[in-house]
Amino acid sequence: MIPRCLSCHKLFWYPRPQCPFCLGDTKLEEASGIGTVYTFSITRRAGPIPYCIAYVELAEGPLMLTNIAECDLDAVRIGSPVHVYFREAPNGARVPYFTLS
Ligand SMILES: [Zn+2]
Repeated sequence: MIPRCLSCHKLFWYPRPQCPFCLGDTKLEEASGIGTVYTFSITRRAGPIPYCIAYVELAEGPLMLTNIAECDLDAVRIGSPVHVYFREAPNGARVPYFTLS
């Protein structure tokens, strides 16, 4: 789900109760779950398992700070197509991650 402004109709990320462009009210709408890697960073020295933090440009336009996982991190490139999947956090929340398409 991604928020859209009810006044100026722009989409944005992250979710907020007011539009960051015009302070209008917002509603959530279903996103496609696909995008491309805008930029990324792979951390290899913090622990035994490397991880990748990235900005993904959603197909709908907004940039989303997220993680890329469940794929060969050495294959991640700027512009790589990715799609969303969800991991369950300890509190039960479903956290969006992306993986290479
Ligand atoms: Zn707006």
